[in-house]
Amino acid sequence: MHTFSTVHYSSKIPEHCQCIILFIDHTNNIVSDHTLLTRFDSADILEQITSLKIESWETLCLFCKQSNIAFLCVNLDAQCKTAKDYQTVGAKLFKKIKAHTFESAAFCWPNVNETQFNVDDFMMIMKGFLNASYTFNRYKSEQADNKHVDIQHCCADINQFKVAYENLSAITDGTFLAKDLMNEPANILTPIEFCNRIKDLDNLGLEIEILDEAKCRKEKMFALLSVGQGSAQPSRLACVKWHGSKKKSDQPVALIGKGVCFDSGGINLKRAMLTEMKFDMGGAAAVIGAMVSIAKQKIPVNVIGIVALTENMTGSQAYRPSDIISSRAGKSIEVLNTDAEGRLILADAMDYATDFKPRAMIDVATLTGAIIVALGHEYAGVFCNESDLSKKLNHASDRSGEKVWQLPLDKEFDKLIDSPIADCQNISTTGGAGSITAAQFLQRFAKDIPWAHIDIAGTAWNAAPEVHGKGPSGYGVNLLTELVKEYVEE
Ligand SMILES: [Zn+2]
Repeated sequence: MHTFSTVHYSSKIPEHCQCIILFIDHTNNIVSDHTLLTRFDSADILEQITSLKIESWETLCLFCKQSNIAFLCVNLDAQCKTAKDYQTVGAKLFKKIKAHTFESAAFCWPNVNETQFNVDDFMMIMKGFLNASYTFNRYKSEQADNKHVDIQHCCADINQFKVAYENLSAITDGTFLAKDLMNEPANILTPIEFCNRIKDLDNLGLEIEILDEAKCRKEKMFALLSVGQGSAQPSRLACVKWHGSKKKSDQPVALIGKGVCFDSGGINLKRAMLTEMKFDMGGAAAVIGAMVSIAKQKIPVNVIGIVALTENMTGSQAYRPSDIISSRAGKSIEVLNTDAEGRLILADAMDYATDFKPRAMIDVATLTGAIIVALGHEYAGVFCNESDLSKKLNHASDRSGEKVWQLPLDKEFDKLIDSPIADCQNISTTGGAGSITAAQFLQRFAKDIPWAHIDIAGTAWNAAPEVHGKGPSGYGVNLLTELVKEYVEE
């Protein structure tokens, strides 16, 4: 939920504003648009800034004696800037405003024609600011007093700013929905409840279709159904379509999400981190969040979001290590570890996606612990079978500030998932390269479609805590939205 009530845009700082957010550079010069500051004693402020020396990427609150107004100063060090720096400073700003209980704040942005900062940099600051404002209080009987803050954006080119901020708002709405879904515990957010939560999205012009177990059986999605058969909660496959392109016949971009609402590991019961395993639907949450953001921005591209929803449990019907199961693609799979379930449900969802003849297919999944060993919580691992898609993903990553790192696919790794008695096995038994062999497994279900797999096991949860706090980061919503924009016809 947004904790501030209103956002205004203006080319002037309003009269009754409690706090002005002032940007300075690494030499402690004011870079905020000077024309906005004429009615304040900027000499006094500048003197205070110089005497206190604000470190790079730090914020400090000063009071202007003459006008009795607070200046929240932010040091933007353009010499070494990353998206993370901007987001972190945005989060710091939000926390400062809350700590000082300001009820109104005016962002006094630099003039992009006169500084080395641009509107995208400002949006990164606001991305951090908004994400820091996210709270999840649904299960608190006493609601925290979340006083609303009036936010005013003051900027020379207010139209350019407004367009960018409205896009960011759409991304934030998608991100907050993704965070809400990930925060929900598995006793509440079952696969059926997940579907209930997305039903209303048809308000945004999205077309929603839910496949229940009978329909999944008809579709021969036996890999998805096998994973869910140890749970009392039935599985679902949800399909969300955005007809953004003028031509209805344009091939869609397919986004596919892993939605394991709780992953106990199954018969290969997990021994650690069980309390975090409600987050194993983070890929599905990112896809749904991205669909919301895409629809709100009315991006002129056809997009189809497919999420496979299930629960991996240990009931008496649970699938077993050594079981051989079938899949929608017709390939048989020897299950050597029931905790490698994500790739099984994705295999069926990807095969279903290929029916729509997508121009590209991107799956997002909290797939392997091994990706955290390789890339920590900073980068998502990317695997891709086509250079154009890979280029587009890197560009989307730069635009969104959601970092990706490409890892290899290789036929030598592919051999490791050959099974002696089935078409493939769901894990490699030789050890090592756990994230790669998972990707190799998925590649077998991509047919010849340009495909990318994004492993977000490290970036979806407890990543960038200085911005997101503990829990979900909403990683993927912004990245996927920017990726879809890469397909807008020139
Ligand atoms: Zn698992």
